[in-house]
Amino acid sequence: MVSALVRDRRPDLIVEHIGSTAVPGLPGKGIIDLSIEADPGEIAGIVESLYELGFQPQPGPDPWPPTRPMVVGAIQAQGDEFRIHLHVQPTGGDMARDLAFRDALRADPELTRQYAELKTQITGGSTVDGFRYTHSKTTWILGVYKKLGFRTPAILPPATIGILGGGQLGRMLALAARSLGYRIRVLDPDPACPAAPVADHVEIGTYDDLDAARRLAAGCAVITYELEHVSLELVKALDTGAVAIRPGPYALKLTQDRLAERRFLEANGAAVADWREVVTREDLSEGIAALGMPLRLKASIGGYDGRSQVRIGDDADLEPARALLAREAAAGRPMLLERELPFEAELSVIVARGVDGITAGFPVARNVHDQGILVESSAPAGIPAATTDFAISLASDLATGMGMVGLLTAELFLMPDGSLVVNELAPRVHNSGHWTIEGAITSQFEQHVRAICGLPLGATGLRAGGAATVNLLGSGADRPASIRGVDRALEAPDIHLHAYDKRRVFERRKMGHVTALGESAGSAMEEAREAAARIGWADDTGGSTDAGEAG
Ligand code: ADP
Ligand code: MG
Repeated sequence: MVSALVRDRRPDLIVEHIGSTAVPGLPGKGIIDLSIEADPGEIAGIVESLYELGFQPQPGPDPWPPTRPMVVGAIQAQGDEFRIHLHVQPTGGDMARDLAFRDALRADPELTRQYAELKTQITGGSTVDGFRYTHSKTTWILGVYKKLGFRTPAILPPATIGILGGGQLGRMLALAARSLGYRIRVLDPDPACPAAPVADHVEIGTYDDLDAARRLAAGCAVITYELEHVSLELVKALDTGAVAIRPGPYALKLTQDRLAERRFLEANGAAVADWREVVTREDLSEGIAALGMPLRLKASIGGYDGRSQVRIGDDADLEPARALLAREAAAGRPMLLERELPFEAELSVIVARGVDGITAGFPVARNVHDQGILVESSAPAGIPAATTDFAISLASDLATGMGMVGLLTAELFLMPDGSLVVNELAPRVHNSGHWTIEGAITSQFEQHVRAICGLPLGATGLRAGGAATVNLLGSGADRPASIRGVDRALEAPDIHLHAYDKRRVFERRKMGHVTALGESAGSAMEEAREAAARIGWADDTGGSTDAGEAG
């Protein structure tokens, strides 16, 4: 019926029926998915014709991009109304795969039975169970695609990888990509950013400069980001299909906004601290009354290293909390108010998810923060094996739920009863995974490159009994950075220094890190601490601010 309608107006277009309603015997949500394949240059014109036929633009905050849009409609048939999702896909895109999947299901009752069973389990399960089934469904579907011969082709060296952000994470990512033979382009506002010396090209621009991002993208096979504070609009605008953005805009959207992230976590059955969204002073008062102090009030967007959040321990903290709330409200941003948890330890787990949906988790790390900044990480975390397994499977499920390709880090609180609460997610390599460079079979940076390039993931086990990283934080006034104490820090044989080559040092700036390997996480940590204490930065007069060396 719809095909005939479209054919009347556009005889050149073939409308294919895809999705669950196209296969007899599959349970579905009653939505009829249709698909048209078209030359990329004609897509805008086709969408116009479809509007004239009565189709509407896709509602909601996350429509498909204009390069592969979906329009919606409805038809009446046999007294029932059916909703229609009509996809317009660029030639050479996913349509061939979708049709092959449909035809395989139509031809093979056993395949249809398996798929139907998975789908029934999803709709029948509780939240957590449903989520786990979604996970297996995605993996199952990707497995079928593979059997049908539809594999996402790998991006091979010497292809160029674009990185949004050229800080220390971008630098270490670029180093790993380089050693695999890739070329690197970086977007950063600072021409002397830490990644600059290891990039082929630095495009100078802020993380919302679309023109600069487009210049960066030209010549890149894949684009990734080293921080979640890049503009979502920019990432969406780059996501045209011409270049792969991994992870994609959805993962960015869910993780750059603490409120969206909380909703995602809860919807997926992860435990989080009790929380409220607050905008006004009244919301704040009500939230405090409902949740009870101590609390944390956090900016929904843009906070890092403990910035843009305040602790509300008693009434004396109300003034700074209200001031921060007023600042955020003025910018139109609601805040997250949550209960402060009496955790036993902070942990983090990093998982990689490949383009084929396969996930791999690193050993869980135990982390120590000082006023919101990570100072120490070590692995293994010294927790029961069941807790490690749970952390990895939780993070893998979350990665699958957001369609992640690349690394996802989950910051966790280990509670006194042994349970895990998710604090926050990061769609990227993470400071708490630096120990993997020397301490794991594959480093987090290499793993991220493998994932976004469609290569097989590497093994993630520890290379030693334990690994520990201590961050080197700057101290003193803002001044040119000149590192001191390197020779003394490296006296122990299994100490590894990573200096980020930042041009200036100031109080608590992340300047580098040292990693030690040892028989256990504890002995590695002792070594790493000792080495880190020997490193400092020269003061303006050429001396050292480092107490150990000054003496
Ligand atoms: P950031 O994005 O700056 O890392 P986080 O939300 O992770 O922000 O907070 C930084 C640190 O503050 C955490 O690692 C933890 O030490 C502490 N913290 C944050 N929220 C809570 C909480 N609800 N209960 C206890 N400690 C918290
Ligand atoms: Mg954090």
